[in-house]
Amino acid sequence: ATGLEAIALTKTYGDGPTATHALAGVDLRVAPGESLAIMGPSGSGKTTLLHVLAGILPPTAGTAMWRGRSLADLSDADRTKLRRSEFGFVFQSGQLLPELPADENVALPLMLAGVARAEATARARQWLAHLGLRGMEGRRPGELSGGQAQRVAIARALVGNPGVIFADEPTGALDQTTGWEVMNALTTACRAQGASLVLVTHDVDVAHWCSRTIQMRDGLVVGEQRQVPTTGAT
Ligand code: ADP
Ligand code: ADP
Repeated sequence: ATGLEAIALTKTYGDGPTATHALAGVDLRVAPGESLAIMGPSGSGKTTLLHVLAGILPPTAGTAMWRGRSLADLSDADRTKLRRSEFGFVFQSGQLLPELPADENVALPLMLAGVARAEATARARQWLAHLGLRGMEGRRPGELSGGQAQRVAIARALVGNPGVIFADEPTGALDQTTGWEVMNALTTACRAQGASLVLVTHDVDVAHWCSRTIQMRDGLVVGEQRQVPTTGAT
């Protein structure tokens, strides 16, 4: 009962004849430090599964657990607190605040958690340096390339030492080379931190950065492979 766990998750949007069964009974475990890629055709339930596992969306039935605790047993306030302190999120794009420089974007979650500005900024700059962004601390998102902005988003997701990073198509807006750099940064940083990674992608080359891939179809897990992940070392 240490990592993420899904037991018989179902999610139905709407009801009656127009209901969509986005998740039709998903069982899944993600061990601490494991990296999981969720693949499958459009509409197969990947994003819904990610959001239910992350406590963003309540399941219709079944249980999503983190470290042995059911997310449904928490109050809304406690679930939000858990999401902020133990989960990190990376989306396709557009998640940085455009008016703030990179270091303040990264420091923001720490400051919201009560860390003093000087300490938060110092830790933010350390993470930016780890991710190859030394010298970019003062730039606003609009003054960064797409790949640089995604690395800032990764720094922001990791700065609070989360146990798991949820990433929904984090390279979806990038060309192949930049996507490779971003996946290298993301998986290296998760490994260094001991954080699990749960990644939604439709790109098999992106999935190969993870140690396990599952395939979804019509709300069910229909296949699974374990693999030696790609690493940046050549
Ligand atoms: P994927 O990420 O694999 O593309 P999703 O989880 O986004 O799949 O969607 C699964 C199914 O649920 C799709 O049929 C989609 O149209 C439907 N769906 C997703 N979100 C909603 C929503 N908020 N309301 C109604 N239907 C939804
Ligand atoms: P999809 O990945 O299926 O395209 P969306 O991008 O519409 O789904 O996002 C679905 C949910 O994910 C949103 O309701 C929101 O909670 C969250 N989300 C997506 N992008 C961002 C973002 N840039 N910043 C914060 N939350 C986001």
